[in-house]
Amino acid sequence: MSYAESSVFRLRALDPEAGPGTEPGPAESSPTAGVMTDHWRLLQKTPAILHSIDGDGRLVMVSDRWLEFMGYRREEVIGRRSSEFLTAEARRKAVEKTLPAFMETGRCDNVAYEFVTKSGEIRNVLLSATAESDAEGRVLRSLAVLTDVTEQVRAERALAKSRTRLRAILQDQAELICRYQADTTLTFVNDAFCRHFGKPEALLLGSAFADLFPVGGRDALLSRVSRLCPHQPVTYEQQSLTQDGQLAWHEWTDRAIAGPDGGIVEYQSVARDITRSRRQQLALRRLLDITASQHQGLAEKIDEVILLGLDHFGLESGVMSEILGATYVVRHAANPIAAIKPGASLALGDTYCTHTVELGRPVAFDHVGSSALGRSSAYRQLRLEAYIAAPIMVDGELYGTLNFSARQPAGRSFGSEDLEIIALLAQWLGLQIQTGQKQAELERSNSDLEQFASVASHDLQEPLRTISSFCELLEQRYAGKLDDEAEEFIGFIVDGAQRMQGMIEDLLSYARAGIKGRDFEMVDSDAILDKALRNLKAALDRNDAVVERGPLPKVCADESQMLQLLQNLISNAVKFRAEAPLRITVTAEDRGSAWCFAVTDNGIGIEPKFAERIFLVFQRLHSREAIEGSGIGLSICKKIVERHGGRIWVEPAPGRGSRFCFILPKLG
Ligand code: ADP
Repeated sequence: MSYAESSVFRLRALDPEAGPGTEPGPAESSPTAGVMTDHWRLLQKTPAILHSIDGDGRLVMVSDRWLEFMGYRREEVIGRRSSEFLTAEARRKAVEKTLPAFMETGRCDNVAYEFVTKSGEIRNVLLSATAESDAEGRVLRSLAVLTDVTEQVRAERALAKSRTRLRAILQDQAELICRYQADTTLTFVNDAFCRHFGKPEALLLGSAFADLFPVGGRDALLSRVSRLCPHQPVTYEQQSLTQDGQLAWHEWTDRAIAGPDGGIVEYQSVARDITRSRRQQLALRRLLDITASQHQGLAEKIDEVILLGLDHFGLESGVMSEILGATYVVRHAANPIAAIKPGASLALGDTYCTHTVELGRPVAFDHVGSSALGRSSAYRQLRLEAYIAAPIMVDGELYGTLNFSARQPAGRSFGSEDLEIIALLAQWLGLQIQTGQKQAELERSNSDLEQFASVASHDLQEPLRTISSFCELLEQRYAGKLDDEAEEFIGFIVDGAQRMQGMIEDLLSYARAGIKGRDFEMVDSDAILDKALRNLKAALDRNDAVVERGPLPKVCADESQMLQLLQNLISNAVKFRAEAPLRITVTAEDRGSAWCFAVTDNGIGIEPKFAERIFLVFQRLHSREAIEGSGIGLSICKKIVERHGGRIWVEPAPGRGSRFCFILPKLG
């Protein structure tokens, strides 16, 4: 039996005329029964929602507003227990809590209840009641006033719901979100924030946000906060270490939050994790540096790229393989695990790479054991838990694979950007291998060409010498016997043969300029210029040339070719002089990663339209009669500069003349 229905709650009828101890049924208590006083009737008309119950908890009076509120007619409710109009939950609450207190004190104030109207709608009310008790303390009657707070409760619930939803949204964000006061005392932190700083919410709230950063970051935050103003968020990047010691990058956006009056009430910081993209950027920059490096050979560059991959993926071992049919040959390796050392060969089927080759695209497993690859025989043998790889293609054909692995699962899950990086590294390797192969082919063909040139020059010079010597014999034997014209013809033949011999020699030295060089070493270009000027002393003196020179650097070069280069350019400056007193300037400018040399003259100059042509073999702008030469000098200069990894060009000198510039990268 419920509390409300038990005899403990013996409320007596409220009707004053019924007297104590009467048990009014619905008929007696009905207003229609004519037992009400004027006051009683007046109470019914009150604009408040009122009800009165007797000692049994039965309704003896309800106001008109009560009926309106609950949707009943008076005769439907009088005599029924008031508890019948409560929800089950409210009834339980009344029995367990409110009624015992009410019995005790004889009053209750603003107790929240849920009433059910006739149409089944649940209404929220605040109930205040007073009771009248007899000498033994038994409640005889009570009068309750109900305040309808349904709308208010609904609004509060909706607000609470939207707050919960909002909080859940904030909590679920991958961004670190926090709010704090001017002294950076934290007032809100989301889950991502707690995870990143490795502290629970309870510990973070109330502590200073600034204290989460090292001293530099702390001071920077405090000074930023003092300058923040509403509507002007400040964004900046910050590096930090995660709980497990990994480097992380975040893009923070700080803003001041204004209250309704426009004044700052709080501050907010939101941090977006940009670690993946920054890591990718770093890898790309490193790849660019490796590519641009002048002092590393292909093998060293490949090793560097493997180290780059190891750092980027955070794995243990890196391998570049070549696949020859069903054999996997290790070509390069960093920190190789077990038998996977450079030069080693394995059956392709025994490696994870067989999977990569089959798929023909980059693959990544941060935990092999829990993936399909974990069922392979290679896994049973090698037990590598992390693996990322891509096929290397050369000229559209499979060359091998680039792969990184570790015996432990990877410390992080691999994303699409990791697949992009491995694909890029493999593509880079493919291109380098392709270029290397082309270079080797070129060197082979160059050396064939050189051999041909030397044989040809030797063999061609032989018949030329025969022609010259027989012409000389003709001249001697038939001197005075031939007419002038015949002698002139013989002269032409001798001249032609000599020219041809000169050209063959030029061609040979051109062919040798690109390939037959000494190894590069640090040489003093100042000293080389001295030597060039000494070699050209006669011509310079003859032309009263004034040579001005700036300080010249030490460069990594082939000394004899460097001499040939400067000498060719200076002798051209002399050869193509103008009327004005000859002035030649030799300078060098530091351009960071390279030196830019310039040989400037005040000679006849070169029309810009010929600026490219003059560097081609046997291309001249003047006849041999006008100015002597074969047109090979500049093409040799170009070949020398290119062999040193630089470039050469001509530009008009200020005033009149030409300026030949060449760039030599700072090697070594
Ligand atoms: P060569 O000097 O035997 O003619 P080069 O290859 O050295 O052959 O030069 C090619 C052409 O470039 C020259 O014939 C000349 O027309 C032009 N040239 C080279 N150096 C200069 C210079 N300093 N001033 C003007 N013209 C030049």
